[in-house]
Amino acid sequence: MSEAVRRGLLANEPSDYIGGQFHPLHRGDGGAAGATLASHDPAAPTVEVWRGVPNASHIDLAVATAVAAGPAWRGAGDSARREKLIALRTEFIARHEALAALITLESGKTLAESRLEANALAEKIAITLDPACAFRVQFESIALTATRRASCTFRPHGVMAVLGPFNFPAHLPNGHIVPALLAGNTIVFKPSERTPAVGQLLAECADRAGIPAGVFNLVQGGPPEAAALCDHEAIDGILFTGSWPTGRRILAANLERPGRLIALEMGGNNAAIVCGDAHLKQAVIECVRSAFATTGQRCTCTRRIIVDGSIAREFISLFTKVTSTLVIGPGDSREPVFMGPLISKGARDAVSAFQSKCASRGGRVILATQCLDREGWFLSPGVVQVDRFTRANDEEVFGPLVQISVATSDLDAIEQANASQYGLAAAVFTSSEERWNQIAPHIRAGCINWNVGTAGASSRLPFGGLGHSGNNRPAGAFSIDSCAAPIAHLEERSDGAAFPQGMQPFDCV
Ligand code: NAD
Repeated sequence: MSEAVRRGLLANEPSDYIGGQFHPLHRGDGGAAGATLASHDPAAPTVEVWRGVPNASHIDLAVATAVAAGPAWRGAGDSARREKLIALRTEFIARHEALAALITLESGKTLAESRLEANALAEKIAITLDPACAFRVQFESIALTATRRASCTFRPHGVMAVLGPFNFPAHLPNGHIVPALLAGNTIVFKPSERTPAVGQLLAECADRAGIPAGVFNLVQGGPPEAAALCDHEAIDGILFTGSWPTGRRILAANLERPGRLIALEMGGNNAAIVCGDAHLKQAVIECVRSAFATTGQRCTCTRRIIVDGSIAREFISLFTKVTSTLVIGPGDSREPVFMGPLISKGARDAVSAFQSKCASRGGRVILATQCLDREGWFLSPGVVQVDRFTRANDEEVFGPLVQISVATSDLDAIEQANASQYGLAAAVFTSSEERWNQIAPHIRAGCINWNVGTAGASSRLPFGGLGHSGNNRPAGAFSIDSCAAPIAHLEERSDGAAFPQGMQPFDCV
């Protein structure tokens, strides 16, 4: 029995979910490299949470099932779809603690963070159903002449593939699934191979909520299955959250399909600018929180801090001191912990390797990130001071390591902040509203906060970034835009068409 079932967090053994049925997966013997997927508790890696062998034939089956379920789901109408989403919301609320416990067990994040993620599932449905969000896909018709109007209707794309990351294994796929379903699409969801159990729990919630068979389908798999799904001829769109290298592969696989909707939510190398007049305490709390929340495994984590020379010594000293006191431990500890483990040994090694790379490039390690001497993929937070940020050292490293540079002026700070191929989140700390208004317009990012750290976004706002961070803000409150295609109509109510120049007039009998 898998650990997730044994703990009562999943009702079904590791499965795909297609056409309203759970299709159990073989457990596998772990023999063939890459053939078996298994997730482990990052705080106690000997605990295997979920294990199954992806079934490649299920991709075709799931897509065909989603295609077949499309007309009835589209035809059911907006209010019927809303009713089903309200039932899903009820299910998310009822399963809140199981969702939170499973997110912590499989991803390692603290229970407090997992509870917030579980809350966000129901909240996303409430926001998506709010008329204030629906205005995005509504269009008042326009009178062009006395008899002719311009109007627009919105159509679902068809079958949407939803691919999720490990770090918000429930909230981020849900953020794409809910608007896709509301708009009348059917979906095939492939969760991260590192959090398959949470993915399955979402499918179990959809099943219990009575989402009609074939509308919500789940296939488990790693990169090969993900690539096969994204290359499938019968899907109409891809709603992806993950890294830029993976997003790039999706784009490359779809070069011949310009009409396919591809919504990409990707990484960031997010900068916080701390001006000389910043409230020190506010800046330190928010920068520490944003650098190390979710153990540095959020797309919006602060990776780079650019502090004005006039307060650099004071800021760096306090920032480092506060960072060194963060409480680290298993996400479900009785005592409040700030950081859990990283997702895997590989992720932990990547952060340690990046620290060495920074040092070899001349960076000064002020607080070394170190593996904790205990079971699990725990790593203490690290701080490295560098001379300045340039495109040459622009890298997203997904873990608890932050780099700090000193700026000589606001202009210098802006230049360093923008020295990135990414453009997801940024923060400016200043006690002057005028200064904030002067700096913000020059920062290249999709989410820019004032006196609030980079990590943290309102679901009532659009979410996404520029450059290698993504395309067209396909998440947050504007996510419905990626789920419905506008169709333009000219509507003529008279039969008075004039003969255009060069057309021979004629009479109709
Ligand atoms: P990842 O890119 O490794 O994987 C994401 C998903 O893509 C997984 O489901 C994976 O199976 C799938 N995938 C793998 N190969 C594929 C292929 N060839 N074609 C299609 N899909 C494929 O990302 P991750 O490590 O799970 O997540 C961390 C990354 O996600 C970071 O870069 C982070 O910044 C980013 N992220 C972005 C946001 C955002 O909203 N902008 C949010 C969370 C995470």
